Amino acid sequence: MTRKPSHHKGTKAKKASTADLLLAWYDKHRRDLPWRAKPGETADPYRVWLSEIMLQQTTVTAVAPYYRAFLKRWPTVASLAAADLDAVCGAWAGLGYYSRARNLHRAAQTIVRDHGGQFPRTSAGLRALPGIGAYTAGAIAAIAFGEPVAAMDGNAERVIARLYAVKDALPKAKARLAVLGQALVPDARPGDFAQALMDLGSNVCVSKRPRCEACPLASLCEGRRLGIAATLPRKAAKRARPLKRGAAFVALDRQGAIYLVRRPEKGLLGGMFQPPLGPWGSSFPAPAIALSDAPFSGAWERKPGLVRHGFTHFELELEIYVCRFLRRPNGEGFWLTPLEFATAPVPTVMRKAIGHAVDDDLPLFVGRAG
Ligand code: SF4
Repeated sequence: MTRKPSHHKGTKAKKASTADLLLAWYDKHRRDLPWRAKPGETADPYRVWLSEIMLQQTTVTAVAPYYRAFLKRWPTVASLAAADLDAVCGAWAGLGYYSRARNLHRAAQTIVRDHGGQFPRTSAGLRALPGIGAYTAGAIAAIAFGEPVAAMDGNAERVIARLYAVKDALPKAKARLAVLGQALVPDARPGDFAQALMDLGSNVCVSKRPRCEACPLASLCEGRRLGIAATLPRKAAKRARPLKRGAAFVALDRQGAIYLVRRPEKGLLGGMFQPPLGPWGSSFPAPAIALSDAPFSGAWERKPGLVRHGFTHFELELEIYVCRFLRRPNGEGFWLTPLEFATAPVPTVMRKAIGHAVDDDLPLFVGRAG
């Protein structure tokens, strides 16, 4: 039998007091973030959107310089729509999950083409855009357009799970947390409410040791009352990620230009640049077998060590083969100078592989024969 905490009753009262307490706290403790409108200003949906997409799985500190550089280069949704996709992916390198950059670009084009350059003003309209899920749609609609809708990201889910002592494990609990979260959204200042929940989750109701003594919702919090807050939200056990292994071939010319190929448009790291790779399996191929996948014949040398990278669903380990050519051989790929390489859409894992290849060769190995 499930016992209903008293706070579940009288949702109206709880809604009012939770929102009031949280908003009063927010007015005093709000974080000053580069993408956030000042009190009393109207938020720009483009800025909210850009920051929310960048912040997925990344910290505020890591995002801030990317956000500023992006906004300087593409200050409006129209300028982003008109940008070259490779340039957008290049500017994204380091933030991971490149499909987000591609979706960002596609969504900007959709907004310009189908919506006259204006963002849809409702969460339902926003959700129809590429790469915008329930959370981001809620955040933009609430913050930029004042729609009374919840923005349930990991921070908000944690606060709500604790506030109501929800013991079901994530991801199953998501739907219930969303309903409970939505029920708390006030009609007035829904955008500030969403941001207040974000700030509370990232500064006070933190994952390991919630700072309940500094929390404006402490008197209402069921998780705290029961002494189980720190254990919430519960999470279903993760399956171990499989390990894949393969070889990467870094070909260099005398000036340090690098030979790259473009990945297929669809799938993992779609459309990004990389050095040629062999197939991935459960173990590394023996050098003679690995070299059958090299793009050119040459004096390939296997670098000691390896490069490891974690993707969402698997871990990848690459052995790196490197070869220097006096003359650039021709292949299906292309050569980029170090300067071009710096801003090219090369994902982090491939930058690691190339970094490993040239590690002990900087400055760039001029005059070494292949
Ligand atoms: Fe989180 Fe503690 Fe506040 Fe409850 S009282 S919402 S557990 S910080």
